[in-house]
Amino acid sequence: MTGTSVVIAGAGATGLMLAGELALAGIDVTVVERRPNQDVIGQRALGFSSRTVEVFDQRGIAERFLSQGQVAQVNGFGHIRLDISDFPTRHNYGLGLPQQRIEYILADWVGELGVPIRREVEVTGFTQDETGVDVELSDGGPLRARYLVGCDGGRSLIRKTAGIAFPGWEASISSLIAEAELDEEPEWGIRRLGAGVQVLSRLGPDGPVRVLVTEPYAGQSGEPTLRDLSDAMIGVFGTDYGLRSAAWISRFTDTARQAAAYRDRRVLLAGDAAHVHAPIGVQGLGVGVQDAVNLGWKLAQVVRGTAPDGLLDSYHAERHPVAARVLRNTMAQVALTGTGDRLEALRDVMAGLLNLDEPRKQIAGMMSGLDVHYDLGDGHPLLGRRMPDLDLVVAPDGPLRVFSLLHAARPVLLNLGEPGALAIAPWTDRVRVVDAAYAGPWELPVLGPVPAPDAVLIRPDGHVAWVGGPAQAGPAETGLAEALTRWFGPPATGVEDARGRPPGEVS
Ligand SMILES: Cc1cc2nc3c(=O)[nH]c(=O)nc-3n(C[C@H](O)[C@H](O)[C@H](O)COP(=O)(O)OP(=O)(O)OC[C@H]3O[C@@H](n4cnc5c(N)ncnc54)[C@H](O)[C@@H]3O)c2cc1C
Repeated sequence: MTGTSVVIAGAGATGLMLAGELALAGIDVTVVERRPNQDVIGQRALGFSSRTVEVFDQRGIAERFLSQGQVAQVNGFGHIRLDISDFPTRHNYGLGLPQQRIEYILADWVGELGVPIRREVEVTGFTQDETGVDVELSDGGPLRARYLVGCDGGRSLIRKTAGIAFPGWEASISSLIAEAELDEEPEWGIRRLGAGVQVLSRLGPDGPVRVLVTEPYAGQSGEPTLRDLSDAMIGVFGTDYGLRSAAWISRFTDTARQAAAYRDRRVLLAGDAAHVHAPIGVQGLGVGVQDAVNLGWKLAQVVRGTAPDGLLDSYHAERHPVAARVLRNTMAQVALTGTGDRLEALRDVMAGLLNLDEPRKQIAGMMSGLDVHYDLGDGHPLLGRRMPDLDLVVAPDGPLRVFSLLHAARPVLLNLGEPGALAIAPWTDRVRVVDAAYAGPWELPVLGPVPAPDAVLIRPDGHVAWVGGPAQAGPAETGLAEALTRWFGPPATGVEDARGRPPGEVS
């Protein structure tokens, strides 16, 4: 039996991002993918939001996406546009880029990091015991791993085999999306008709027609046919405009479900395997990528043995509420895209509200993913939130962006006070200490200005795990040893810090 530390089932955006995170941490990981390449049949994601751009920027790969996509204000709520150009982030926009291109960029990055992807191979089952997981593969196997992560999409075999419940809401609406030919000239554009949003657009002057149309009722199963598409068009437009020659047709619904647990012992779930919802508001792919970035460094530390296995429970605790909120907001958005005079009235009220500054900031903070706040206890507003990408001055290198300190996916203790003031020798094998100066404002999306801290402990996912001074009572390092132990494991034994104090006594 061959072995690896981690098997990832599925090389979609989530699985690829997780593979990259584990590889950066030096973990031996194997990805198993049933598709021969990253080609996506039909249409899926058309882009992602600001926080996902930031996450890629934290790894130094944002430019790969930005150079191929279209920067735009992609956020909206039920198709009511939300502008975030005044948000305090370098990326105060989203990116329009088809899912296939996103996946190819990620696959190239993962390839550069040397991760093997076993293509045209399916995970067909697994059994787990106290020390690992035997992963059954369609081309033989099994493959023995310490952990298995199901990044295998909404119909996740990993989730089902683990017996993890997937509660939620059945579809209330079903849509078909297709590329086809029409013999008659339709009314082009986006219209709210029938049960919701309908789109007819031509891809280029002589290109095929992109159709998005709601079906007469939700709950159909099986592969959609040209007949289904024609029926749906007649139901909505009164005609199918001479529909013929569909290159592809796919169906999506507003089913909203979430895994009851993101972990069963040595098996974890991420991305669509853990949550599915209506594709509205440019969220699904980005949430999966952010799941991966939350999980990767934790799993790496547990595999390496520097942190206890219990650290993995914080993955569910932090990420489950984020996707639960996405499910709720997509359900609200689908309701808002309905038709009829009463819904028009409701949309007018919502549009008016979202035109006001404070409601717009609140909702846009959620839709862009910039307001995500992990509950790490009371304290400075930065605690548990994303670290802003400040322009620092670091001796002797000079100007440096915070995000560039995160390229290696390692934790950073950023000391903005007296150089050398924070000595954490028992953790310096794991945590990089950077003395830097920063004179500019501290501002967070939605919250606005926050007090300037003297120091911040930044996790590899870019979230702040500890904030030091100046308002805090006690010495500068109060609570630092606890935060370091909680997130990066106990102090190395026999290592004294720079002031000659024994391990664990920095506070
Ligand atoms: C019409 C539509 C529009 C969308 N628009 C957007 C958008 O604009 N923005 C956005 O952020 N999101 C959007 N989404 C959602 C987005 O496509 C998904 O959230 C995203 O693809 C999830 O990525 P994933 O890697 O978690 O899962 P998937 O993309 O489903 O990847 C799972 C992978 O696992 C593989 N796999 C499955 N089972 C096995 C197995 N047993 N063994 C081996 N491999 C396996 C599959 O082949 C696949 O490659 C849209 C979705 C749809 C349907």
